[in-house]
Amino acid sequence: MMIAQELPTVMVVDDEPEVLMAVADALEDEFNVLTSTSPLKARAMLEGDDIAPLVIISDQRMPGVAGHEFLRWARELSDATRVLITGYTDIDALGAAVNAGQIFGYLPKPWTTDRLRRLIREAAEHCAVRRALAEERRLLSHLMNSVPDPISFKDRNLRYLRSNVAHAKALGMDNPDDLIGRTDQEIGAEGAARREAADQAALVAGITTTDIQQDVPALAGTGAGAPGRRRWYSVVRSTFKDGEGATEGLVTIARDITAAKEAEQALSEAHATLERRVAERTEDLAATARDLLAARKAADMANEAKSRYLATVAHELRTPLTGVIGFSELLLRGGVSPGEWHRLLTLQAEAGRTLLGLLDDILDLSKIEAGRLTLENLPLDFRTLVDDCIALVRPSATGKGLAFSAAVTSALPAKIMGDPTRLRQVVLNLLTNAVKFTPAGSVSLTAEVLPPPPGQGGEPSRLRVSVTDTGIGIPPERLSGLFEEFSQVDETTARRFGGTGLGLAICRRLVEHMDGRIGVDSASSQGSRFWFELPLAVPAEEAAALPPLTDTAAQAPPGRARGGRRILLVEDDRSTQNPRVHHPARRGT
Ligand code: ADP
Repeated sequence: MMIAQELPTVMVVDDEPEVLMAVADALEDEFNVLTSTSPLKARAMLEGDDIAPLVIISDQRMPGVAGHEFLRWARELSDATRVLITGYTDIDALGAAVNAGQIFGYLPKPWTTDRLRRLIREAAEHCAVRRALAEERRLLSHLMNSVPDPISFKDRNLRYLRSNVAHAKALGMDNPDDLIGRTDQEIGAEGAARREAADQAALVAGITTTDIQQDVPALAGTGAGAPGRRRWYSVVRSTFKDGEGATEGLVTIARDITAAKEAEQALSEAHATLERRVAERTEDLAATARDLLAARKAADMANEAKSRYLATVAHELRTPLTGVIGFSELLLRGGVSPGEWHRLLTLQAEAGRTLLGLLDDILDLSKIEAGRLTLENLPLDFRTLVDDCIALVRPSATGKGLAFSAAVTSALPAKIMGDPTRLRQVVLNLLTNAVKFTPAGSVSLTAEVLPPPPGQGGEPSRLRVSVTDTGIGIPPERLSGLFEEFSQVDETTARRFGGTGLGLAICRRLVEHMDGRIGVDSASSQGSRFWFELPLAVPAEEAAALPPLTDTAAQAPPGRARGGRRILLVEDDRSTQNPRVHHPARRGT
């Protein structure tokens, strides 16, 4: 059978061909009319799927199958609107057709063409509207479910009217229909109370937007993001109103903004890193500028010091040189008595020696400054070295009436490694100074062995030498610069005691070259203690015989009495007083 495409289809089922003919005649201008005298054949046509009538019209009384029975089949097989034609006022048949066939209307016989046309037009329109509505619903549901953002509708009591798959999954449910009619609290969804509070706020405000962070439940696999990961959502809630403008409920759309949030966070971290780098760089630049400034200041100071140094050197050289020339002129002039002649020559020789000492010091310092100082490293007998120094200084000490002593601990091995010349120079300098700046009282030297600092494995023991005097002392404010070149406590020092202010500077540099340190404890008028410490290196054969050293108080070999641990090398001896003999290198004019 051919179906005209342009006209909507109506199916008519009646066992009486005349009725079929009459209906077809009445409707064929507006509809494509399919007729059948057999309900079974009509059912087969509906099952065939290639027709989609808008209206199915059935007679009530037919042999074999009643009209309401056929209409019940028709309802299951087609969405067409159903109409019953009945020849009698048969209430029971009508009731059955309404219930089983859910008919749209009925047409009692005898009917007029007009009445038939009106009823079928209305029935067709009803079907078309229902189809359009169903299509709308299908499209809407397709739209909602294809959107990855969770979407839901709630009534004003916050019961779900509708939700899409993404929303159901975000709540840990598979089927959106399971939500309908229930509240979040009834569902027991995560964050229900918070969500409903936000819903209430939106019902009042009309529209709200909030960013929330939420865990995606393990059940959720699609739409709202992979499960088990914390996601960010931007949630928009908006109320919708009925025809009178009263709030009916609210629609909520949650947009997954995790990627944007992560990008935002990465950006702000990058920004912070950049700012930190800029700050660090700025600080680096500032530090470089400070360093440059300090370097420049140091260079200026060094320059200034050099000028001062030159001036001082010139001045210091001038004094003994003037003496040498002056005494020579006096001698050249002649007429000098033999006694005076001897005195002048002695003074001249003394001035010459001072000059030589000064030049030695200056050359020493220049050598160290130029980095040309090379230290020897030989086995040496430190006791003998101290002995020699004492012998040199003792005459001036005893000449001033000073008590003079030296003690070297027995814990010190017979031989230690070092540079004998330079060590002698340091010890001699400290002793000479002590004697020079001590008008009365005593000068003593002690040499101890200190154990390695506790907890610092691998550090060697140290040799500590102290020279203690009861002399004029040093005011605290002058202590710090004492080991600098040409540093004298005050200008009168040179005049009173002689000296160049180079001795301690040379000592410091020598000791530091030996990896040691040098220092002073002193107070005005209370005497001074100058000391230096050096790492103690022992020749291999000595080391084997050395007893273990634990602390300063236990330097003696086991079994030895405490009092026997120190050997007094030198006692003051007034019988050797000789006021005319001085250590040549440290003598001023
Ligand atoms: P010099 O003795 O040739 O002046 P030094 O460098 O040896 O040069 O000493 C620098 C200054 O330190 C001395 O001029 C003196 O002011 C002070 N000084 C050194 N040793 C002592 C000491 N034992 N007691 C007091 N002052 C001292």
